[in-house]
Amino acid sequence: MDAEPLRLAWLEASRPFTADQNRGIATGPDLVFTPGAGRVGVTAVHGVVHQRRGHVRQAEVNTAALAVVANQVIGASTLVVAKTLLIEDANRNAEHPARVAALAHGLWGTDRVAIDVHGQTDRPVDLVLSWGGIDFEASPGEALARRLATGFAAAGFPIDLGGRTTGFAAAGPTMTRAAAESGTAAVQMEISRRCRTFAQGSDRGRVAAFIATFLTLIATEDQTATSLIDE
Ligand SMILES: [Zn+2]
Repeated sequence: MDAEPLRLAWLEASRPFTADQNRGIATGPDLVFTPGAGRVGVTAVHGVVHQRRGHVRQAEVNTAALAVVANQVIGASTLVVAKTLLIEDANRNAEHPARVAALAHGLWGTDRVAIDVHGQTDRPVDLVLSWGGIDFEASPGEALARRLATGFAAAGFPIDLGGRTTGFAAAGPTMTRAAAESGTAAVQMEISRRCRTFAQGSDRGRVAAFIATFLTLIATEDQTATSLIDE
């Protein structure tokens, strides 16, 4: 895939979520679900300012927009939290409407592939790919994470597979864990800021290469999406 147009599409898609200092559009919907044709679903629940244990957590910027572009380009189903909600966040709250919607819309279940995208500060690794805790070894999510890790590493992105060095194992009451418990091949992807920023001085080539690699790799998990790219 031609990378720079994808970076520009990502920038354009980010505007509703970066509105109001990353709180999203107050008069807009809480969640946005966009159905896709295939088996891949991309979720982003921290793309706007959110809450955990009563504290404000900053937005993991441009993660929701990444999901939106995955729908536009490869036809992934996407579900994103679109504005700041005054409830405990979706990675801690089993009753969160994003979880209810993910099940109701069929993003989770046997034969589904779920990528829950998050953002981390810059670390030696560009990405952390984890699947719900080490007790989920040999789960469909682990196999998916290994395939994605191989592809990202080949494209020059250092990976922490399983969250062993960073501690981001997607264990506990996370979206990814819930998806895995529903039989989904589910991976939590923590993306370093340098791979997802449009700020002045950012490395546009790295950001563009990241989104092109991301879309190519998740499309290969889905025959429907692969045929879209081949056209
Ligand atoms: Zn997050």
